[in-house]
Amino acid sequence: MNKVLIIGAGGVGTVVAHKCAMHPEVFNEIVIASRTKSKCDAVAKAIGSDRVTTDRVDADSVDELVELFNRHRPDIVINVALPYQDLTIMEACLQCGVNYLDTANYEPKDEAHFEYSWQWAYRERFEKAGLTAILGCGFDPGVSGVFTAYAAKHYFSEMQTLDIVDCNAGDHGKAFATNFNPEINIREITQNGRYYQDGKWVTTGPLEIHAPLTYPNIGPRDSYLLYHEELESLVQNFPTIRRARFWMTFGQEYLTHLRVIQDIGMARIDEIEYNGVKIVPLQFLKAVLPNPQDLGENYHGETSIGCRIAGLDKEGKPMTYYIYNNCSHEEAYRETGMQAVSYTTGVPAMTGAMMFLTGKWVKPGVHNVEEFDPDPFLAAIAENGLPWHEIINEPLEVDKI
Ligand code: NDP
Repeated sequence: MNKVLIIGAGGVGTVVAHKCAMHPEVFNEIVIASRTKSKCDAVAKAIGSDRVTTDRVDADSVDELVELFNRHRPDIVINVALPYQDLTIMEACLQCGVNYLDTANYEPKDEAHFEYSWQWAYRERFEKAGLTAILGCGFDPGVSGVFTAYAAKHYFSEMQTLDIVDCNAGDHGKAFATNFNPEINIREITQNGRYYQDGKWVTTGPLEIHAPLTYPNIGPRDSYLLYHEELESLVQNFPTIRRARFWMTFGQEYLTHLRVIQDIGMARIDEIEYNGVKIVPLQFLKAVLPNPQDLGENYHGETSIGCRIAGLDKEGKPMTYYIYNNCSHEEAYRETGMQAVSYTTGVPAMTGAMMFLTGKWVKPGVHNVEEFDPDPFLAAIAENGLPWHEIINEPLEVDKI
């Protein structure tokens, strides 16, 4: 009997719960727990299965988490709350002997900065406890790392350049909205850009470097160089890579809103006093922006996320490789009530937990997804709504930038 505990009942948590419920042979019992229990209850009601139960937890508190884990005794926790809770949840997992999976690396609340060092520091403790922690198992990070591992395993003797390309060509009909938690999203995009070149990290201004890239079934879209967390682990796990970059598309309308939000101070993450109450402007902004979970109904178009890799093939000849998935917002909504950004994150998170529970991704310690066998994972995401495609030895565009 396997039991999974999902923490977080937002857009991603909703998709994870729906997808786990579709596999009773793997996830015999499902518990959804979050800060607001009514949201968990709504998800459970939409699924309508007596195998799904709900609970309440403040995941900032290790004590509350330990009580929750002792009450339910899950085999694995899928953490789809916010990156701020990663360390408290990992700590509680160690105290209670529970395995762990997340989709975003730890970020302190008071500093817009993310890196793996905080979570990698738990490696020895998880290993000694015989517990597996799977880090960054959404789409990017997540499938992007597994795509890279698949390319290394099946095609390349030496990967030299990696460009992860993330396009959302969807239209939700709102003047401005973010596709996942607005606070996390805006913190990520307004930071400096960063990429890896010949053993060093090169810093750029926020959204300074951009170029049009052509996405399958979509066409050309302005794509902006951002720093993204999977670059940190991928260049360590695949040391032949000499240049690694991450690109994301944004429309002009979105960027104009973002600039105004920054210029008027609404992207600030420090506390200010307003009418005798302390508020964080970015958290206040989140409260008035559209809820990403409510965007699905009128969302049209699709996302396209993939890896463009160049290097030497198994015979030592130059080769290029592009592996990607396109996901329709409408189809994601029809299946789970959520748009494609939540869907493309939730399906890999469910799949990673499935890999663990079926014994394919069991490795005591703390690991990024590219350290596991990519084959069963990629077969499973294709069967669970995220089919992927390959383009071999065609121009990658990115070599010209
Ligand atoms: P949402 O804001 O929609 O949902 C977050 C959920 O976590 C809410 O249910 C929220 O509860 C709950 N939560 C927040 N704080 C706590 C707490 N202290 N204790 C318990 N529950 C808490 O976010 P998303 O669903 O859009 O994103 C979830 C995660 O997925 C984020 O970490 C995000 O960074 C990551 N992500 C990863 C991607 C990838 O490809 N790897 C892509 C997109 C997202 P409440 O409703 O009460 O606020």
